[in-house]
Amino acid sequence: MKLVEVALKVPLNRTFDYLVDESHRSKLAIGKRVRVPFGKRELVGVVLTIKEDTNLAVDKLKSIYEVIDEQPILTTTYLKFLQFCSRYYCFPLGETLFTALPAALRNGDAIDKLATQMLKPSEQGSAKVRGKKQQALLDYLIENRACSIGEIKALGFTQAQIKSLEDKSLVERFIAPPTTWQSDVIQINHKPVLNAEQATACAAIKQVEAFSCFLLEGITGSGKTEVYLQALEDIVKQGLQALVLVPEIGLTPQTVNRFRKRFANLPIALWHSNLSDNERLEVWRQVETNECAIVIGTRSSIFLPFAKLGMLIVDEEHDASFKQQDGLRYHARDLAAYRAATLQIPMILGSATPALESLQHAISNKYRLLTLSQRAQTATANQFHLVDMKGQIAQQGFAGITLQTIQDTLARGKQVMVFLNRRGFAPTLICHECGWLSNCHRCSSNATYHKGIAQLICHHCGDVNTIPRQCPDCGSTQIMPTGLGTEQVAEFLNAHLPNTPITRIDRDTTRKKGSFEEALDEIRSGGARVLVGTQMLAKGHHFPDVALVVILDVDSGLYSSDFRATEHMAQLITQVAGRAGRSGEPGKVLLQTHFPEHPLLQDLVNNGYQDFARYALTERQEVGLPPFSHLALIRAEGHKFEQVLQFLSDLVPKQRLAGIQLLGPLPAPLERIAGKFRYQLHIQAESRNVLHHYLAQLSDYINSHPLANRIRWSIDVDPIDM
Ligand code: ADP
Ligand code: ZN
Ligand code: ZN
Repeated sequence: MKLVEVALKVPLNRTFDYLVDESHRSKLAIGKRVRVPFGKRELVGVVLTIKEDTNLAVDKLKSIYEVIDEQPILTTTYLKFLQFCSRYYCFPLGETLFTALPAALRNGDAIDKLATQMLKPSEQGSAKVRGKKQQALLDYLIENRACSIGEIKALGFTQAQIKSLEDKSLVERFIAPPTTWQSDVIQINHKPVLNAEQATACAAIKQVEAFSCFLLEGITGSGKTEVYLQALEDIVKQGLQALVLVPEIGLTPQTVNRFRKRFANLPIALWHSNLSDNERLEVWRQVETNECAIVIGTRSSIFLPFAKLGMLIVDEEHDASFKQQDGLRYHARDLAAYRAATLQIPMILGSATPALESLQHAISNKYRLLTLSQRAQTATANQFHLVDMKGQIAQQGFAGITLQTIQDTLARGKQVMVFLNRRGFAPTLICHECGWLSNCHRCSSNATYHKGIAQLICHHCGDVNTIPRQCPDCGSTQIMPTGLGTEQVAEFLNAHLPNTPITRIDRDTTRKKGSFEEALDEIRSGGARVLVGTQMLAKGHHFPDVALVVILDVDSGLYSSDFRATEHMAQLITQVAGRAGRSGEPGKVLLQTHFPEHPLLQDLVNNGYQDFARYALTERQEVGLPPFSHLALIRAEGHKFEQVLQFLSDLVPKQRLAGIQLLGPLPAPLERIAGKFRYQLHIQAESRNVLHHYLAQLSDYINSHPLANRIRWSIDVDPIDM
């Protein structure tokens, strides 16, 4: 008898056995996909093991329909990696596997069904075209000679822009010949001489031969990317591949160009949420066949099946976008550490503001700390100023001194960045007579007032309502906005600074494809200008002319129920501040606060993030919070309040458990979203082993709970928002 154990994409915490008929046996192998009957459906599954017997009743077993692949699409090492993910995150193996696979493979498509569509400039070469984005695309192609359509789209260019260049015969499509690369003829283009700190860092990285994790703690502009590039050079020269993980919006033509310029004849692939299913499949295939040397990708690129991976780099490693917030709730940085350790290869985590978890690993010598303390090109440090808002008469949230400093900076022809982490015009409307607030009726939260489109929008459930003309409670017409959002800040500055162009960057202004890039281009064109934005502005973009950064409200981060709030606030302030002062003169950073004497704020401003983070770690240690303990969260939500509470209460054991602390059920920070009640159970353990041991038991128990099918629940291991 021949049997196979198959992983299927079904929400059950188990695998499935099938019989294999004579005709299919010769093609059978671990890591190949098979088509199987499942109930009344037909599903695609992956073979995990081939075996001779089963503990199930054989006469109940069905036979597989077909073996899909000629060659296994997954190696046993890769399957082990997925088994680890599944165990670690308490998520069914089948669903884990199908989260990792590109959609085309999940559907049973052949892995080599595609030819890569490429675009190159025509004979005509450079030309002036109308439309900034079209021009940028043409310039990019001329600079890089040829690119895949997938890459072009990953960089934010649209099909329409490609088409209009094609219509003008400025670019041509062609089918890519199979790419190969040879490690002995790699052409390395001009590179700068490293400064002393960079050289020390590079030397340390190049020295290691097995697994070693480096935390590259370097202020913005200190040349971390240059260290990555020179470390990568060594890896690709050995014929090995590398993965560079970047945050969700870190993938810009500028970033990619630096890699391409340096490694002119190396195949580099991009992985990003803009790719189509076919483009994903193509990158997957190139990675697996070692046709591509370097991948620059967002979170999910950690699942690519590299044939010969030699190095993992995580840029901006503190960034929250590396953590997936639904389904398989993985952290790409943590999975990178697992892959690097099992493959025995080096890993580099880079950041100006390392996560406290990573920093603690460095302090305890599990990781090696490499420091870049100076900007690579200009030796200027930013000056921080706390603006005390107590007793100030503020205009639309701006203190008088703040407005004055903005005007002075603009007068010198420099740019100003104003940061506020709240989009919309105002977070709520309030009735002046009775105090009614524009709360969302489906969530325990406010509905934000958007003035331009005259709507009340709930940012949690997306509910949209018109603005009431009268107060629904008392009938008064005295309804007014209260609090500040970016829309209002931009409107106010427009009126206050009539001749200065204002660019607003938030989710509302960048919804249209390509509009974010357009705004960035406008900013880069230089000259006096004010940029108003949310945290979208904080990430990795170079704005050479910004000399002043204003952070309107830092107080919300100081007093919050989330124990990570101060860490995130400090990271945000430091990252936003890092946008200033690249032009050569020291940048100025104004922080408006009602608590200028707050010790954490003082530490951050006077001694920098490095010092702040180390102090924050001692605080975490005192109270035993991560990274000095390990957390998991069981979340549950449903329309019936009693069921949600009952479900979570049942999970709390009657006796105390050694090494484990349970807290809850507690209401989630937002107790109700879209009409559903949300509760959670906090599990805190002294050691990782104890936590995972307990979670394994718990997840079996949960799966057998009678309410498990009636409410939504999830296990979040190492949650980053509580
Ligand atoms: P980070 O990644 O830390 O923000 P970058 O690597 O982007 O820093 O470096 C900032 C700027 O300094 C870039 O324009 C880069 O080309 C330049 N740079 C980096 N290292 C050097 C060096 N050793 N010599 C000269 N310029 C450098
Ligand atoms: Zn009222
Ligand atoms: Zn809502």
